[in-house]
Amino acid sequence: MAALRVPTPDRTRAVPLLVAGEWRNSDTQRWEPVYNPATGEVIAQVPHATQEEVAAAVQAAARAYPSWRATPPIERARLMFRYKELLERHFEELALLVTRENGKTLADARAEVRRGIEVVEFATGAPTLLLGEMAEDVARGIDSELVRAPLGVVAGICPFNFPAMIPLWMFPLALVCGNTFVLKPSERTPLSAVRLGELLLEAGVPEGVFNIVHGGKETVDALVAHPDVKAVSFVGSQPVAKYVYAEAARHGKRVQALGGAKNHLIVMPDADLERTVPAIISSAFGAAGQRCLAGSVVVAVGDVADTLVDALSAAAAEIVVGEGTDPEVDMGPVIRPEARQRVLGYLERGQEAGASLVYDGRRHGRLKGPDGGFWVGPSIFDHVRPDMAVACDEIFGPVLSVIRVGDLNAAIEVANRSRYGNAACIFTRSGRAAREFRYRIEAGMLGVNIGVAAPMAWFPFSGWKQSFYGDLHATGKDAVRFYTQVKMVISRW
Ligand code: NAD
Repeated sequence: MAALRVPTPDRTRAVPLLVAGEWRNSDTQRWEPVYNPATGEVIAQVPHATQEEVAAAVQAAARAYPSWRATPPIERARLMFRYKELLERHFEELALLVTRENGKTLADARAEVRRGIEVVEFATGAPTLLLGEMAEDVARGIDSELVRAPLGVVAGICPFNFPAMIPLWMFPLALVCGNTFVLKPSERTPLSAVRLGELLLEAGVPEGVFNIVHGGKETVDALVAHPDVKAVSFVGSQPVAKYVYAEAARHGKRVQALGGAKNHLIVMPDADLERTVPAIISSAFGAAGQRCLAGSVVVAVGDVADTLVDALSAAAAEIVVGEGTDPEVDMGPVIRPEARQRVLGYLERGQEAGASLVYDGRRHGRLKGPDGGFWVGPSIFDHVRPDMAVACDEIFGPVLSVIRVGDLNAAIEVANRSRYGNAACIFTRSGRAAREFRYRIEAGMLGVNIGVAAPMAWFPFSGWKQSFYGDLHATGKDAVRFYTQVKMVISRW
């Protein structure tokens, strides 16, 4: 791979902060390049905002809060109707931006933006979503009401792998619930979030209701510790999710922290392989394996294993790896050279541990990406044992491990051993097996003959175990509950 170009600080391509309705360049001395992972080119410079800038964004949100809280939910919903129209109008542009800074294919980026818009559509239901409850005569002549009130300033901290969708999981719902917001996008993919912010301003969001700051750990720490931030929505890797959860709790805040994953795909001997194989390939290698719902361990049950592994290897060999804007490409690059190194390291570790590398992405034939991109082909390990690092760790790259077991019981036990519990899938023609799987599996999002078990916007994104810290999940009614607090009124007149 060609060496990375050394970034020169270029203020003309500085990614701006959004504070109190105004875009401004950071005064920080600390900048970091943003790359197009398909070419290795530096496409922008992102600031690590100063503590003062983070405080200014939170203060702007705190100042905007009283009048936004007093804005009727129907008016907040109308903002989202206008926003949805703008997102539709700029749909292709947003998808292209996602591809450019993240590397995923345009088809994948379009799906991501669509999923994000669906949250905005759900948020337009605010007047209904925020309805309270009322009971007459809880005692003689006494009535009781439940009212949903907003929290105040909410901070949202996002990962690189869905630069548009994950911010959209958070702020549309937080805003329609009456909160104001400070978004901290991933420093590796901040451009889509900035465009989302521009469109929100165009839709008419009042000054200070929505703000953006950039940076890494220090920015996150400043947001989480700020006394005016009342709640934190976090999505990212497991160690950071755990850290943000603990830090936010230590500062007395409400927090939801979605972490990493190691998703198991159980294939029963009766599975329809013509459908199962493409579903597994797309789950494991779509977005170069950089999805929290990516299938990364296939648990092959009984005599399906040989045929399945052969079919998966043959399908992996067909995957065209290259620039996401090329319509013939199936899989883009990984996000950074370090991610590539991590994947290559796991290929070595898997081999050292005795797994057989039946398809080696280092020798992938169908690589057509430009020099300088962060390329790594798809890889498949067979005869993986559940205690091997390739079976336990989140690799977050295009590596699929196959574990062979004798029956469904053993398959469920393998999946349930994982410290993660984001998603799990089963491929079968048997309702009984599917029911057994659904009942016993310890994961929050399940697919039955589906490779990527992504809930729609009006349901919660529902990871378990170390894939999630908190109790109310992202999106759906959980998000409405997360972004509101309940007030009980008991009256006698
Ligand atoms: P990451 O944890 O490196 O970064 C996430 C955010 O945390 C970023 O905004 C980053 O600036 C910040 N951050 C990084 N290190 C920090 C630290 N030490 N202290 C405080 N903040 C810090 O995650 P990533 O690599 O951007 O994203 C990929 C990860 O996100 C994967 O593990 C993936 O499974 C997970 N993810 C989970 C879900 C889910 O729904 N459970 C969804 C998408 C991604």
